[in-house]
Amino acid sequence: MHDTDLAHVGGLSYLNPSAPEPYASFIEQIERVRPYLGELERWIETLKHPKRTLIVDVPIVRDDGTIAHYEGYRVQHNLSRGPGKGGIRFHPAVTLNEVMALAGWMTVKNAAVGLPFGGAKGGIRVDPRAVTKDELHRITRRFTSEIGLIIGPDRDIPAPDVGTNAVTMAVMMDTFSMNRGGTATGVVTGKPVALGGSLGRHEATGRGVFITAREAARHQHIEVEGARVVVQGFGNVGGIAARLFHEAGARVIAAADHGATLHNEAGIDVPAALAHVAENGSLAGFPGATPIDIEDFWQLPCEFLVPAALEGQITEVRAPRVQTKIVVEGANGPTTPAADDILKDRGILVVPDVLANAGGVTVSYFEWVQDFSSFFWTEDEINDRLERIMVNAFGAIWRVSEEKQVSLRTAAFIIACHRVLEARAERGLYP
Ligand code: NAD
Repeated sequence: MHDTDLAHVGGLSYLNPSAPEPYASFIEQIERVRPYLGELERWIETLKHPKRTLIVDVPIVRDDGTIAHYEGYRVQHNLSRGPGKGGIRFHPAVTLNEVMALAGWMTVKNAAVGLPFGGAKGGIRVDPRAVTKDELHRITRRFTSEIGLIIGPDRDIPAPDVGTNAVTMAVMMDTFSMNRGGTATGVVTGKPVALGGSLGRHEATGRGVFITAREAARHQHIEVEGARVVVQGFGNVGGIAARLFHEAGARVIAAADHGATLHNEAGIDVPAALAHVAENGSLAGFPGATPIDIEDFWQLPCEFLVPAALEGQITEVRAPRVQTKIVVEGANGPTTPAADDILKDRGILVVPDVLANAGGVTVSYFEWVQDFSSFFWTEDEINDRLERIMVNAFGAIWRVSEEKQVSLRTAAFIIACHRVLEARAERGLYP
C-alpha cells in the first residue's frame, strides 16, 4: 500500500470498514453514563472534548535517498486526574479519530482502575513492516521530537501499543533525553529493563486479561481448566494471554493474527505457536492448526472469546453469531456499542477493555513510580500488586453492575466518569 492510498483506508481498522468511527462509539459509551452522574452531569461535555490534539508531520530521508512524510498524532483527552498516559500505535490505518477514541478510553481506564493519570494516546500512520529498521528508527526519533512539545515525565507519558515495543520506547526515551539535555527515564514506560523499565511490564496486559477472565469465570461458575479459548491477535496482549490460559489448563482452540486465522479443536500448542510467530513474524505457516474462514472463527463455540488485535471487530453483524460465554476485551474498543447490546441481550458477559486490558497501564504506573524513586521492585512484588489492583477493580465494577443492573462496561464508565468529573469539578474551570 502506498502512503497516498492511506487516506482512503477510513477511520477504522480496514477489517471492518462498515463499523462506526471509534470516537462515535466512545461518545455513545459516555452518553450511556449520563443518567448515573447526578450533579456531575453538568460536566459531561468535558469527556466528549479532547483537551489537546497535536497533529505532526514526520518527514524522513528513506534509505534510497527519497523523502517520505508520515502523519503522526498525540491526543491528550483529559488531564484532570494527572499527567496523560497511553500508548503509541504504528499502523497503516491510524487516523486522528481512532487516536481520539483510544485517548478517551485511556482516561476511562486509568480512572476505573484508580491510577493517578489522565488519558492520552498517539500514533503514526505507517506500516512498520513496510519500512526498513533504519527508516523506522528515524521515524520514531522525528515523531518523538515533534510531540516533545507536550510529553514529559510529569506531563504525558507514552507506552507501547500496536506496532511498537520496548525498542521503540528506548528510542523515544533517548530522543526526548537528548533534546532535554539529561536522561529522563520516566518519559515513557514499557522500556527495556536496562533503561529503567519494569520487570513484568512486557507480560502485564496479557496477565491482566487472564486475571479478569478468571474473575469473570468465577462469578459465572465456569472452570478455566479445560475451557475453550479463541484469541484474535497473537502479539503482546493476545499471545501472552493465550500462554497464561494454556498454562492454566485451558484449550486455545483458535488464534488469528494479520497473517493467518487458525483452528485446532484439540488445542493449539501455544508455546510452539509463539515460537513460530517470534521466528516468522506471524502465525502464517504454523503447522499445528488448520486455516479457517474469519467469519467461522468468530462463531466457534467457546467459553472465552478474546479479541486482542484492533477495534471494531465484534459488530452487530457478528454479535448475534458469537458462541461464547465470556468476551474478554484484550484490545481497545473491539466491540461496537450496538454489538454490546446484542451480547447483553444474549446473556454473554463482556469484560470491557477499560478493565480487561488495564494490567499494562497498571504496571506502567509501577514503572513510572520506580523511575521517579530510582528504586526497583522484584517481579513477584509487581505481579502481586497487579493481581491485587485488578481483582479489586473487577470486584468494584462487578458490584456497581449488579447494583445498577448495567453491563460491566457501563459500570466501569460510571466509576471512572465520576472520578474524572469530580476532579474536574473540584479543580474548577480556568480562568
Ligand atoms: P501487537 O502489535 O503486539 O499485536 C497485535 C496483534 O494483532 C498481532 O498479532 C497482529 O498480527 C494482530 N493483527 C494486526 N492486524 C490484524 C488484523 N487485521 N487481523 C487480525 N489480527 C491482526 O499489539 P498489542 O500490544 O498486543 O495490542 C493489541 C491490542 O491490545 C490493541 O487494541 C491495543 O491497543 C491493546 N492494548 C495493548 C496494550 C499493551 O500493553 N501492549 C495495553 C492495553 C491495550
